[in-house]
Amino acid sequence: MNPLRLFRHVFSGQTNRGYCPVCQKNTFFVETGSWLRDQYLCLWCRSIPRQRALMTVLDSLFPDFRTLKIHESSPCGSASDKLARECPGYLPSQYFPCASLGSVKDGFRNENLEKMTFPDNSFDLTITQDVMEHVLNPDRAFAEIARTLKPSGLHLFTLPLYNRPETKIRARESENGIECLEEMEFHGNPVDAAGSLVTREWGLDVTDFISRHSGMSSNIYRTVDRKLGIDGEFLEVFVSRKNMPDTYDQSSSLLPPAISCDPGKRQLVGISPSGPTSARPRPGSQGIICRTSSASWATKTCAIRWRANHSPSWSTKVRGGMIWQFRYGN
Ligand SMILES: [Zn+2]
Repeated sequence: MNPLRLFRHVFSGQTNRGYCPVCQKNTFFVETGSWLRDQYLCLWCRSIPRQRALMTVLDSLFPDFRTLKIHESSPCGSASDKLARECPGYLPSQYFPCASLGSVKDGFRNENLEKMTFPDNSFDLTITQDVMEHVLNPDRAFAEIARTLKPSGLHLFTLPLYNRPETKIRARESENGIECLEEMEFHGNPVDAAGSLVTREWGLDVTDFISRHSGMSSNIYRTVDRKLGIDGEFLEVFVSRKNMPDTYDQSSSLLPPAISCDPGKRQLVGISPSGPTSARPRPGSQGIICRTSSASWATKTCAIRWRANHSPSWSTKVRGGMIWQFRYGN
C-alpha cells in the first residue's frame, strides 16, 4: 500500500494510536481490511501484528537480544529487517534448492532447515516466522534447530496455531515426491514467486511434537494489546528452549513482564503468579481462558479451564494476575 493511501486510512477512523515494538516509534496502527493478521499496519514501518508480537516477546525475554548470535530461516518483513539492521550477530538464510547448501546466494546463506550445514551449538537464538507450516519434514527441522542451538538456546517462532487437538497434515514427502492430502494452499514466499505450499495446520499437539522430535520444551505467548498494535488472528508466539528443565519457576526471568492474554478466544493456559499454588495449572497441563472481567489488562481476572495432560477431567478457577503463561510440557 502506498504511503498516501495509508495516510488516508488514518483519517478514516480505522486507526488507533500506539507504540510500535518493531520500529520503536509512537505511531498510528491502521486497519486496511478485516483480516487484521495482515491488514493492521504500523504507519511507519508497515509491520503486521505477528511481527510486533514476536518483537514484544523477544524484547521481554531478552532485552539484550542485539548481542546474541541469531539465525533466522526465511526472513521476511519488518521484524527481520530490524534484526538485520540492529544485530551484528544476525545471520539470515533462505533455501534455494538449486544452489549448494552452505553457500551464499543473493546475500543469504543457503540452508535447508531440515538439513543445515551449521555446526552443533552455533546460535543463541533461531527465529522462524510462519515457516514451520511449510516444512515437509518438520520433525527433522525442529531436531536441526535444536542441534544448531547452543545449550539453553531458544527457538522463537510464529506459526498459525489452530484450536484443535491434532495437527492436520495437508502435504507430505513420499517416494514419488510431494503427496497432497488436501487441496493445495500456498502462502507468499520472498524467494519463490510460486509461493510456499502449506504442509500442516498445526494443532495443540504442536509442542508435544516439538518435544518428541527435538527434546525442546515450549512456551506459547499470546498477546492482545491495541496500544502495541497486536490484535487479530493467529498471533501466538512460540519459544522453545533447548535443555530447559521441566519445572516452573515463578521467579524465572523467562516470565515476561508485560505479556497479556486474549480473553475468551482460543487457547491459553494461565499461570497466575498471584494465585495459590494449588490453583495453578501443573506443568504439562493444557487449557483455555474461558472469560475475563472487563478490568484493564494489567489487572485482568481470567477464568481458566485446564486439565493435566491426557486427563479426562477439567478444572476451572478464576484467578487474577498480570502474567499468563501457556505451556505444554513433557
Ligand atoms: Zn512500526
